[in-house]
Amino acid sequence: TDTDTADEAVRATCDDATVCKRFATSKGYWKDPYIQYFVRSVGERKAPEINRGYYARVQGVNRLLDAFLKKTQCDCQIINLGAGLDTTFWRLKDDNLMPRKFFEVDFPTIVARKIHYIKTKPPLSKPIIETHSTDSLLLDAHSLDSDRYCIIGADLRNISDMEEKLKKFQLNTDSGGPRTAAYLLPTLVLTECVLVYMSPSQSSGLIRWAAETFHTAMFINYEQVNMYDRFGQVMIENLQRRQCTLAGVETCQSLELQKERFLRSGWEHANALDMIAVYSMLPQEDVGRIERLEFLDELELLQQLLQHYSISWASKEKLSLGIIWLF
Ligand code: SAM
Repeated sequence: TDTDTADEAVRATCDDATVCKRFATSKGYWKDPYIQYFVRSVGERKAPEINRGYYARVQGVNRLLDAFLKKTQCDCQIINLGAGLDTTFWRLKDDNLMPRKFFEVDFPTIVARKIHYIKTKPPLSKPIIETHSTDSLLLDAHSLDSDRYCIIGADLRNISDMEEKLKKFQLNTDSGGPRTAAYLLPTLVLTECVLVYMSPSQSSGLIRWAAETFHTAMFINYEQVNMYDRFGQVMIENLQRRQCTLAGVETCQSLELQKERFLRSGWEHANALDMIAVYSMLPQEDVGRIERLEFLDELELLQQLLQHYSISWASKEKLSLGIIWLF
């Protein structure tokens, strides 16, 4: 059916992200010793502006993530929605920044692939086994559950099914009975290039679910923005050519709309920056280092690219953690 084709095209975007990250790390933009186990070969050369764009994306998201972990002293849980083949769990383990539990959700077929890689690659499975206290670790074709890391196959557009699965694997939520605030873990929800593939009502529903489920929480979202102009149109057409529709593109028209979506869906504070701003706020010493890696003559193209992506984030807190923007 058309829906199947569209979903398949959305699933394929997971490989794009991993292939581009793999290439950029092979050039030294940042370190990721685990990504090689998810895409074997380095693949075709990517243009320097693409590599810089991925650098800004990964560094920007990581800085927010790490700030949240430090604020909560890792006494928190993280849920990466539409995680694809993301390697953050392993990075956090190596950096001694592991949350109490790290959850990932993606379509069952993507999850099955990820679990297959984990099963067959000791550098991936070892850290999971090491952080697990008992002998029995749940590992089947569509889910993995250990003490600190859990991967679930579910459709983000079916919130009740997803929630049920997450709870089955000990997600800590506000609606779990007469618990006191002390037992409720601060929660970080991450969506990196995911919401844009869902309709505006579906993504708002997910954002509202997170606000209603966790009393002290942060939501980090990375995706397209400013899509109304010529450059935005070209980005949309490129995806359409691969049968991939950006069902949520209308929510990606401006930074204002990104913020509003959070504020209308139960979040107390919201912020949004385009990637030009994020790029300029990253530690300039490291930015200088990566800018020397490859010569870039199309500076304008880089600016255009960065201008069409954004990081938006929102927070709400019952426990006064002071979750703030710590670039
Ligand atoms: N977040 C990862 C990253 O940045 O490397 C992957 C990004 S990839 C562009 C989008 C991911 O979202 C894909 O893995 C896709 O399967 C997942 N996704 C999109 N819509 C989804 C849905 N309705 N249910 C579950 N996963 C979904």
